[in-house]
Amino acid sequence: MTTELPVAGTRQVRAAFVSLLGAERRRVLLGVALHVAAAGAGAAAPLLMGRMIDDLTAGATIDDMDRLALGLAAAIAAALVLTWAAGYTVDRVGELLSARLREDFIARCLRLPPHLAEQAGSGDLMTRSTIDVPEAGNLVRDTAPWAATAVLTSLVYIGAMAWASPLLALCVLLAAPPIAVGARWYLGRARAGYLAERRAESAMGDAVAATADGARTAELYGLAPNRRRVAHDAISRHWGATRYTLYLRSMYFLSLESSYVLPTAGVLVFGAALYFGDAITIGAVASCAVLSRQAVAPLNNLLMMVERVQRGFASLARVEGVGQALADEPRASEAEPSGGEVALRGVRFAYPGGRDVLHGVDLTVPVGERLAVVGPSGAGKSTLARLIAGIDPPGSGAVEVGGADIAAMPLDRRRRHVTLVTQEHHVFTATLRENLALARPGASDAELEAALDAVGAAWATALPEGLDTELGGTADELDAASAQQIALARIVLADPDVVILDEATAMLDPRAARDTERALAAVLDGRTVIGIAHRLHTAHDADRIAVVEDGRVTELGSHDQLLDRGGAYARLWHGWQGSGSPPAA
Ligand code: ATP
Repeated sequence: MTTELPVAGTRQVRAAFVSLLGAERRRVLLGVALHVAAAGAGAAAPLLMGRMIDDLTAGATIDDMDRLALGLAAAIAAALVLTWAAGYTVDRVGELLSARLREDFIARCLRLPPHLAEQAGSGDLMTRSTIDVPEAGNLVRDTAPWAATAVLTSLVYIGAMAWASPLLALCVLLAAPPIAVGARWYLGRARAGYLAERRAESAMGDAVAATADGARTAELYGLAPNRRRVAHDAISRHWGATRYTLYLRSMYFLSLESSYVLPTAGVLVFGAALYFGDAITIGAVASCAVLSRQAVAPLNNLLMMVERVQRGFASLARVEGVGQALADEPRASEAEPSGGEVALRGVRFAYPGGRDVLHGVDLTVPVGERLAVVGPSGAGKSTLARLIAGIDPPGSGAVEVGGADIAAMPLDRRRRHVTLVTQEHHVFTATLRENLALARPGASDAELEAALDAVGAAWATALPEGLDTELGGTADELDAASAQQIALARIVLADPDVVILDEATAMLDPRAARDTERALAAVLDGRTVIGIAHRLHTAHDADRIAVVEDGRVTELGSHDQLLDRGGAYARLWHGWQGSGSPPAA
């Protein structure tokens, strides 16, 4: 079951936006000042033109005209230079802010507790990182700066109109009614519309990714028609959500178009009346007519941008939601584990929306013990492993490592104490050295080679470029067994107090698995090792065995003790001995 990560509320989004701008306050203010200066120079040109018309009608000399023409040329040149400087400054600050937004997002994702990331599903995180982060980046890089510039520029032009004729400046207000009605209608619907569109996009991503991941299973069980229907439904919902936002935009742009022409028409009609009533000069009417176009053009652009601003803020709300998920997590505990004793007391646990999977588990694993956990499929062994690794917090009861609540520990600190290795490994597109050094940055080549040796990865020494061999990608795809050995070598390097192996050698053939487990046990001597044992030789080699059945530990003891007892373990063992195959799983 997936539970989407939260979406930040309007107030948090506003606070995040302000704090982002605050990080580059000086550059932002310089950009604003340059834009105001550029608009001032731009407004001077029509005013000088009006003055030229009036002076000409009043019989000015050629010298007067030359002076005014020179002023006009200087105003135009200043407007050009200042506009360029303002654009450069704002673009630079926009790039910086957008880079900061990306970096913050990645840092937050990496701090996200694994259980939250898993519950959110890959579609949600993927959409946030590939669609919302760039969209929010556009907001801070382009949309918001240009929107702010449009407002400032319009205000400067309207101010210039008021200076030429306060009465004609009022004509700008004619644009207000259609804009107000259109904007009110649009803004009331846009946020919800865009958020719904993003959600539908995430769901579509999830559906497609799940089909791709489970392609083999779908083929095996003839599930293709079912997966097609799931994908079709997700795509239809996305199409519906996209069509709705398209409808909102088209209606909104219609109201903008009608607002565009009204102020200039008003200036010409009222200006003519005032001129014939000797209340105003013809130069002032000409200046105001040009200025009204200049004032409304950025306003019109701004209103077109409202749609992008809305989209940007909707995306920023989803980007900030990841931060909110982190903030909503209970405060990390400062307690530092001492040693590797694992203690579970009355542990109960249910996956979101499900029934209890663990029903009150009590178990203590002393420092340095090797405990094997066995039991039928679905009994709760992997769940137990996740809880001991601190991935999921228990619903009730306590899971402690070295006396500290493991789930309450921050991720980076927890990794130093407990490592869980499962069947799923990731080999990064990087060199073998980089893939291993993730577990211990700065490890020497000798340490890396010793770790590979400890897990029986003889193939690594045969690589033509040794530790510098590029792995991952398509060129040197490793087989699953080798990838598993890299994961095991990482544990040797990480050297945590507690190691949990959940089918960690399942990809190796039985003989190699047993050899690797024994070699690993020698290297991990003194560490607490909990192994989910699907092959019973692992249980045989362990100090103690815990049998888990239906979410409870039903037997606990050494191999010989449990055989003597003649219970569930003895039955599994004899069954396995008889068949030479893994226990009933
Ligand atoms: P196996 O040997 O097959 O791996 P297991 O003993 O490790 O089984 P778990 O994987 O812990 O058992 O599963 C215990 C129960 O929890 C099962 O009923 C399983 O369906 C359920 N379960 C496991 N993972 C999840 C999950 N992510 N969401 C919901 N239910 C889950």
